[in-house]
Amino acid sequence: TINGPKDSRRPRDKLLGGLLTGEFQEESCLSRYHSSLYHKPSPYKPSQYLLSKLRTYEMLHKRCGPGTRAYKEATKNLGNDQNVSRSVGECRYIVWIAVYGLGNRILTLSSLFLYALLTERIILLDQRTDISHLFCEPFPGTSWLLPLDFPLTDQLDSFNKNGSRNHPSYLCLYLIHDYEDHDKMFFCEKDQNLITQVPWLIVKANVYFVPSLWLIPSYQTELSKLFPRKDTIFHHLGRYLFHPTNEVWGMITRSYNTYLSRADETLGIQVRVLSKPAGYFQHVMNQILACTKREKILPEVAAVTNTSTSPKLISVLVTSLYPEYSEKLRTMYWEGPTSTGDMVQVYQPSQEMYQQTDKKLHDQKALAEMYLLSLSDKLVTSDSSTFGYVSQGLGGLKPWILYKPKNQTTPEPPCVKAISMEPCFLRAPLYGCQAKTVKITRFVRPCEDRLTGLKLI
Ligand code: GDP
Repeated sequence: TINGPKDSRRPRDKLLGGLLTGEFQEESCLSRYHSSLYHKPSPYKPSQYLLSKLRTYEMLHKRCGPGTRAYKEATKNLGNDQNVSRSVGECRYIVWIAVYGLGNRILTLSSLFLYALLTERIILLDQRTDISHLFCEPFPGTSWLLPLDFPLTDQLDSFNKNGSRNHPSYLCLYLIHDYEDHDKMFFCEKDQNLITQVPWLIVKANVYFVPSLWLIPSYQTELSKLFPRKDTIFHHLGRYLFHPTNEVWGMITRSYNTYLSRADETLGIQVRVLSKPAGYFQHVMNQILACTKREKILPEVAAVTNTSTSPKLISVLVTSLYPEYSEKLRTMYWEGPTSTGDMVQVYQPSQEMYQQTDKKLHDQKALAEMYLLSLSDKLVTSDSSTFGYVSQGLGGLKPWILYKPKNQTTPEPPCVKAISMEPCFLRAPLYGCQAKTVKITRFVRPCEDRLTGLKLI
């Protein structure tokens, strides 16, 4: 057995309130049952109904997953126009295609998984990227990886915008930020009724579309039973689905045990610079400092210092593609004392300089850093970043969000405390069939960092 890094006397909630099944071997995926040693216990309990739904899903996935008779049956005549048949037996599927950065991928996977729960489908992942080097299998006794000999593999990359093609046995859905009215009809009740009859859904998505599922009337009752607290959806589904592989878990635990576990308080700062060109900017550095000062998240550097009798050790974990933000912060706390007498230590695990999605080690570092941020006590994130959304959701944290800078100047105020820990649906359909519901539904709000986005509260 392993002792907890922070407080080994803490009762361990290994299965996260019943979210996880105990059916797995521990060694093959250490993070699955060890995460409770690193995350603070979640104050949010999953509903009994969600737990039973997850167990039912696991059985369905076992029955329909790769290698089963049902899967063979369902793929037999797929894509073969001559042999058109809608009925493929008891199983219906969602194929997830990996596109965009890792944060986007995690959010679309959890949205589609929820959609699978609602519609009694199973989800399978296009595994041609490095996904199997990032995450363990979440469902026992089966696999969530789409077999490489899936009949439509060669066609997966070829469909695009307005390509929501209809075919008797499969349908391609395009839910990417630049989607148009035609694709947005996915969120209409009428279209959902038609989609139900199609055995295979092949989905290209890069958005967290859960808020708009709530706005489809026929799903609302079920969703309320699954999630009596609407702001905990990604928090629960994320902790259910995403268990870093042993390689990534090694990176996470080494960082945590070396740099963070002994601190009295930990702060994560996620610096994502979305301007072009990106890199180090003084106005962004000033914004970070203005935010941590204004919100009293970090002590100030001052000429006179309080000689506190019990100074705190505050560990700051900075994640960024660029090294300068953490270097400046570290230097600042070395050159001058803090007004409180507290000690501030600054750590940045990697400096990758630019996005290299689909390079294995790069993606593993990105996942390790999202996860490490989620272990912090407090969190500061950058606007509109799915990387940050994943961290806040896994950690159950409401971050301070740094506003998007305009005209290369520090915004005032520099940041805002999030109203909920849910990710933002950055490109929600606001017109069309949902126009009315969006306006009258009180549990979806414009996002703090994007007024045209929607989030659950
Ligand atoms: P988003 O673009 O901010 O919404 O987040 P994504 O995760 O979807 O895409 C950004 C990608 O850039 C990440 O997946 C990483 O590959 C890389 N990246 C961005 N910021 C960081 C960072 O702080 N650390 C690391 N290791 N990678 C980063």
